[in-house]
Amino acid sequence: MIIIMEPKATEAEIQKVVTSMEAKGFKIILNKGDVMTVIAAIGDKRMVDPASIASLEGVRDVKLVQEPYKLASREGQEEDTVIEFPNGVKIGGLEKPVLMVGPCSVEKDIDGLLQVAYAAKEMGVPFLRGGAFKPRTSPYEFQGLEEQALKYLATAREKTGLLIVTEVMDTYDVPLVEDYADVVQIGARNMQNFKLLKAVGKCDKPVLLKRGPAASIREFLLAAEHIMCNGNEKVILCERGIKGFDSTFTRNTLDLAAVPVIKKYSHLPIVVDPSHACGRRYLIEPMSKAALMTGANGLLIEVHHDPDNASSDGAQSLNIEQFKKVAKNLNRLIGRIDYDNRNGKNE
Ligand code: PEP
Ligand code: MN
Repeated sequence: MIIIMEPKATEAEIQKVVTSMEAKGFKIILNKGDVMTVIAAIGDKRMVDPASIASLEGVRDVKLVQEPYKLASREGQEEDTVIEFPNGVKIGGLEKPVLMVGPCSVEKDIDGLLQVAYAAKEMGVPFLRGGAFKPRTSPYEFQGLEEQALKYLATAREKTGLLIVTEVMDTYDVPLVEDYADVVQIGARNMQNFKLLKAVGKCDKPVLLKRGPAASIREFLLAAEHIMCNGNEKVILCERGIKGFDSTFTRNTLDLAAVPVIKKYSHLPIVVDPSHACGRRYLIEPMSKAALMTGANGLLIEVHHDPDNASSDGAQSLNIEQFKKVAKNLNRLIGRIDYDNRNGKNE
């Protein structure tokens, strides 16, 4: 941490900062210039809140040298995390990007879900994603079929061998969802639900952590850190768009730069969700292609057997025919990606 003192800072103020940092276990290097004093505080003490130092008398500015997350950072682990599932599917690092597809909500009609699952399998997609517990902006909208939906997903897995991704919204439901899911999803609205992060940190299944609609990249990685420091290091990040100022044409703003930034600062896999980011099905294919070019480890795409009558997010879901066409194009692109240049850590 670098602490820049005001030009008018008194000797007593400088000393107070030094003593306070030393008491916290930092080694101090004092640089006294003609005008200002700069204090370098060296030590791996990520617990110190820079704001508490910045508010001391005589302090002008505080700069972090090390990111405040440790387990999620490249400093903590140089090589990419690759998560391997019991059936051999891998996600992360230089592994081939993978698709996660399925309806926003699992609905009463299990045949519709199975149609999507068979189409996914046919196109070589390893993950079926569907919501059983749905976070909805309005309490009057469809809230999900809960355990019945989990059972439908399990049936789809049995019939197709696809891995299941589904969201958990409450700590109470973690054991239930963990029982059915191969990947437990934390939705964007719950990215900073710290009790929930802690609960999934204690479970055995990989976690798909979606970026909060207004979360900075640092906050996103700190949310991953909450899961990891509770024991679960199998975290897959998901960029799903952040709040922009114009939602006339797109639901959110897809922050694709987040992908190479996260690859530079973290070893965790990251997938991109163009459905929730853009809110319109015609944007799925172009933004998926762009995401693959930024180095994304996968894509999360909503697919519904009858999007016009979907219980949620039909406008951003592909129908099965559209999905097959898009998947074909994406598979072709994935086959041509220059893997040597995909790793963001080589700068
Ligand atoms: C979802 O994945 O279906 C969902 C509700 O997305 P998000 O949490 O990104 O809004
Ligand atoms: Mn959705």
